[in-house]
Amino acid sequence: MAENCREVQEWVEEEVVTSVEEWVERREEKCEKRKCKKLCLCCNKWFCWIEVIVEKVVTTVVTTVVKLVTTVVCEVAAVLIDVVNLVGSFILGIVSGLLSLVFMIPFLGTLLRWIYEVILAVVWRLASIPDVVLGILGLFPPKLLHVRVLVACPEGVDVTDRLARADAWVKSVQQIFLDRANVRVVPPSQPFRMKAGDDGAFVHQVPCGDAIVQPCGAGAFWDDLGFGPVPWYEQTLLMENMGQYLDSTRRILKYGAPLFVFMIDDVKGPGGCSLGPLADYVVVGLDSEGLTVAHELGHACGLWHVKGHDNLMRSTHSDSKLKKWQKIMLRASEHVTYF
Ligand SMILES: [Zn+2]
Repeated sequence: MAENCREVQEWVEEEVVTSVEEWVERREEKCEKRKCKKLCLCCNKWFCWIEVIVEKVVTTVVTTVVKLVTTVVCEVAAVLIDVVNLVGSFILGIVSGLLSLVFMIPFLGTLLRWIYEVILAVVWRLASIPDVVLGILGLFPPKLLHVRVLVACPEGVDVTDRLARADAWVKSVQQIFLDRANVRVVPPSQPFRMKAGDDGAFVHQVPCGDAIVQPCGAGAFWDDLGFGPVPWYEQTLLMENMGQYLDSTRRILKYGAPLFVFMIDDVKGPGGCSLGPLADYVVVGLDSEGLTVAHELGHACGLWHVKGHDNLMRSTHSDSKLKKWQKIMLRASEHVTYF
């Protein structure tokens, strides 16, 4: 069973079942305290008890169904993906390989990838409607976000400091996403099937020829189309994807697809850059804080800039708070998933 399915079950047990039980207990106490109306042989008490019994039966049935549905949906979906993968691995492998090759074509490939990303983002948001309803009710079961930091290192530069900083980024992002949205940030290999060559680490080093200094804004889209000074983001990413961790089904459907953080020498101005849901990567200058990384990942999960002074998505962010609707939006992204 997928590890997070167990966590979701535990969460249902703790949050939903316990609070429902407490509520029924409080109702019981109320009945006990109620004074008996002698005129009708304590009928008011009797009615109260009947109400409690009915509530007990209904809540037991509902919580059992909720527990069953969470288990079945989570586990069956995980198994289904495995079965589809097993049966169609050859065909799906060819399809996802072809998709990767098409997306590597400069300009045209990127345009097609953008369209593909938008369609998937819409489809997965529609599929997240039950999750949105839970969120509106204030229920946020534990979800996962797969993240890897790719440390770009020019020739002749000592990478030790950069790797240490990347580790600090990861810790900070883990804390923020867990505290603010009950999302556990994990490396890409988990629970994905391990492929040869992936050590399952949060941080990977990717060599680059020269130091990378990149402005954000329209230039980032230009780069993504393959025209800029740094056309290798998507290529590096596709190479990372191809042989290593994602199974074919996931590569096509992108459910739980990891987000990559490129640590480059400098992002002029804001310190970080994201193309929103159009790309599975964000770019952050090495002098930036973990807060900036979390902010850019927020963009990649579909969040936009807001005004609140302590909000993570403020353009000049200095705190990590998220409003309830932002939490719901973030959790509806195809990158934030149950398994
Ligand atoms: Zn921003």
